Amino acid sequence: MSLVFTPHFQVDGLFPDVVLLSADNVTFHAHRQHLLAASTNFFGGALASQALHPIVLPETSVVLNIVLHLIYGMSVLRFQPPFEAADAALAALIGAYGVPAARLARSAPLFQLATSYAPYRPIDAYALAAHHGLEDIAVAVSAHLLAYDVSRVTDELSIKMGSVYFSRLYNLQQARLAALKNIVLRPPAAHPPTPACNGDVQRELSRAWAFAAAQIVWTALPSTSIGALQSAFAQAGADIVCPDCQIMLQSRVAEVTREWAAVKVA
Ligand SMILES: [Zn+2]
Repeated sequence: MSLVFTPHFQVDGLFPDVVLLSADNVTFHAHRQHLLAASTNFFGGALASQALHPIVLPETSVVLNIVLHLIYGMSVLRFQPPFEAADAALAALIGAYGVPAARLARSAPLFQLATSYAPYRPIDAYALAAHHGLEDIAVAVSAHLLAYDVSRVTDELSIKMGSVYFSRLYNLQQARLAALKNIVLRPPAAHPPTPACNGDVQRELSRAWAFAAAQIVWTALPSTSIGALQSAFAQAGADIVCPDCQIMLQSRVAEVTREWAAVKVA
């Protein structure tokens, strides 16, 4: 028997009035009205009649547990279901049980669950969200894909996510790279000439900056960190002895940091 969906599982003071049986023989007690309210097709036709005997469903208990938690708007995170189970649960909810994707798109427990896979299954989580048009989830997950090599997306995954979401991922990365180039190619401003540091000396700083910027652009990933930028430009300024040049350098590095932090990550 399910640990949550027991005969004592009350909602709004009402006891369950329907019994579902998973493919691996786990019983789930649920509320007919609650399932019907979420579904546009009588819960896959299973609730079309007033049958009292257990309704046998093709999903495993792990999958059905997710299905029911999401229908009831309850977090399923503590079960830490494997990604494949979440994938199957969404397919069942939308494809079999007639729960509209638009309703799921507003589900906080689904957002929590789907984004929980982002750190270690980012491309799979992205494709899953994309497949069902769950935009907020896709956007949140895409922040974990900045370093992902989109050329590695398999045919299967690219079909699953569809060309629109595939392009969005590619465009996000390209936009970040273009923004990074724009940001780093602008050198520090010159300070007014001093007896120790005239225009010729100041060009040293510009050259060192341009060299560091070229290296960054050459090796840049859409996921380049702020720390990596700071250390590259700090190295560029290591040989600059003029304190005024150092001030201009620090101020430009601070700008670069702010500008890069402001570029969209998702
Ligand atoms: Zn100077």
